[in-house]
Amino acid sequence: MRILLVEDEPELASALRTALRRHDMVVDHASSLLEAEDYAEAEGYDAILLDRQLPDGDGLTLVPKLRGRGNATPVLVLTARSDTSDKVDGLDMGADDYLAKPFAFEELLARLRALLRRPANVQTQVIRAGDLAFDFGHREVSVRGEPMTLPRRELLVLEALLKRTGRMVQRTSLMEAVFGLDDEIQSNALDTHVSRLRRKLAEAACGVEINGVRGVGYLLRETS
Ligand code: CA
Repeated sequence: MRILLVEDEPELASALRTALRRHDMVVDHASSLLEAEDYAEAEGYDAILLDRQLPDGDGLTLVPKLRGRGNATPVLVLTARSDTSDKVDGLDMGADDYLAKPFAFEELLARLRALLRRPANVQTQVIRAGDLAFDFGHREVSVRGEPMTLPRRELLVLEALLKRTGRMVQRTSLMEAVFGLDDEIQSNALDTHVSRLRRKLAEAACGVEINGVRGVGYLLRETS
């Protein structure tokens, strides 16, 4: 799951980023409206966390711009302004939810999960293939009901492949799903994560396997 975090306060941004990463999300960080617009235009995100008071204007103005271009990425507005009229403004402008600062991180996570579950979003909450089930909301993988623990990057690879089971996922899309813009990436990093995941899936005999075409991409298919 890939999140765009738009927040100009360095300490809050850094704390949020660390916490979201700990919950298996890829996070890109923008600290101005302009930067946020560029990122949202160029990259595919599952959700945007949007601060209102940004150095170059009101974060909310980003939302109608995105919607006008057909970008329906769910937006959760984070703001110090908490009175009702601001809330109504935000929702009127096409934001999906609103959270007043200061907030507990657990509350933020719960709101994010709720946004990603909404039917308007193409994400189905649980995807199954073979004996494998992936609950995207809770970031949990299980095989025949038994939990399977995977490191963050492998989980992100699996998520991207499962969303297109039986179809080739291009290398570039996988890179985008697994790494943030300023992650340092070694050229074979993706292949390393894929081969570890492939081995674990084979060991678990869960009825799915990963096939790859060198330099092109990978595909997850059901074998049973
Ligand atoms: Ca701010």
